[in-house]
Amino acid sequence: FDSLRDTDPEIADVVLGELDRLRGGLQLIASENLTSPAVLAALGSTLSNKYAEGYPGRRYYGGCAQVDRAEEIGTARARELFGAEHANLQPHSGASANLAVYAAFARPGDTVLAMDLKQGGHLTHGSRVNFSGSWFNAVSYGVRADSELIDYDQVRDLAREHRPRLLIAGATAYPRLIDFAAFREIADEVGAVLVVDAAHFVGLVAGGAVPSPVPYADVVTCTTHKVLRGPRGGMILCRAEHARAIDRAVFPFTQGGPLMHAVAAKAVALREAASPAYQEYARQVVVNARALASGLEAAGMRAVSGGTDTHLALLDLRPLGLTGAEAESRAEAARITLNKNAIPFDPARPAVASGIRIGPPAVTTQGMREPEMAEIARLLARAVRAVPGSPTGDDVLAEVGAEVAELVAALPAYPRPA
Ligand code: PLP
Repeated sequence: FDSLRDTDPEIADVVLGELDRLRGGLQLIASENLTSPAVLAALGSTLSNKYAEGYPGRRYYGGCAQVDRAEEIGTARARELFGAEHANLQPHSGASANLAVYAAFARPGDTVLAMDLKQGGHLTHGSRVNFSGSWFNAVSYGVRADSELIDYDQVRDLAREHRPRLLIAGATAYPRLIDFAAFREIADEVGAVLVVDAAHFVGLVAGGAVPSPVPYADVVTCTTHKVLRGPRGGMILCRAEHARAIDRAVFPFTQGGPLMHAVAAKAVALREAASPAYQEYARQVVVNARALASGLEAAGMRAVSGGTDTHLALLDLRPLGLTGAEAESRAEAARITLNKNAIPFDPARPAVASGIRIGPPAVTTQGMREPEMAEIARLLARAVRAVPGSPTGDDVLAEVGAEVAELVAALPAYPRPA
């Protein structure tokens, strides 16, 4: 860090500012986490210098002996941890991993059946503003209005009607377990390739806290930076029969040189995720998510689908007469970072939204457990009700902010450099 401070004080100041933000508040964005110093060391290493187009032993550049080791170690760890026949650690992100899967199995114009963005799916699952919805014929399924659980009857009906090339399971804002066996059955019936986008919950799978999609899916795409607690990036797991198609779709079809520092950092995260401590962490993430959801329900919010089985909860704020946008900005004023989120059948515009999505992966990494979750729920419920600019609103937000600062001081995110 000293060399950064000497060379570029402005960027050093940004890094310290971000560290202060992480240390000074609660990070409740369900897709974020706090990587270990070991992961950060690999990320900030000289491996960033290396061009390594291709795969270990089959590179287009010389000098790849060391980065080959990193990639081989990483892919072996991924195969072992997830019981997968093949792993590719090169995707630069979750979206890149999904792009590669489309490229491996479909052609522009083919039909893809995936979860509606408005009901919890991801942009890469067929949104019009994304390659997936503009280059492919995207058909969407959603959740049932009564239970807010995936409507498997609708998935089957749409699959029979549209005969998709790809059937995608997985979501960005779905708090419940997904029935992979049901998706497998539907995919088999219509001859679709079953892709599970496990970006959000792959870390819970790694820690044994939720069932694995690997035995069911043809391909599993992931991000490595959410619950899994690795560097920002993507990963693809697949059956051996698809290995060649997947590898070629990542490089040379959709990417150039891999980010070898990120590949090495993914290897580090996978090693960490294989430890008993990580198993305990993953279990605690789910316990904490449930505790947060029930604390917030007790404070008058409504948990979509009645609760959570995973690392995230979606809270409907309409019972409090609040929007997601209001809650997000009030929480931020009280040092609590979360995101507004559409709820299923949301009457509000996405930029306003009726809900918030919260998750405890980061605060659980800090060592927080059920008592802290109860405290966080209490503080959050207080903050979102405080109207900024009103006679008491700003005072309440300042008071909550001070209590948050006290809470995180006891279990800090990272040490601050001297
Ligand atoms: N797939 C799902 C289900 C996601 O939730 C996300 C990101 O939130 C992605 C893919 C894309 O990941 P990235 O932001 O790394 O491109």
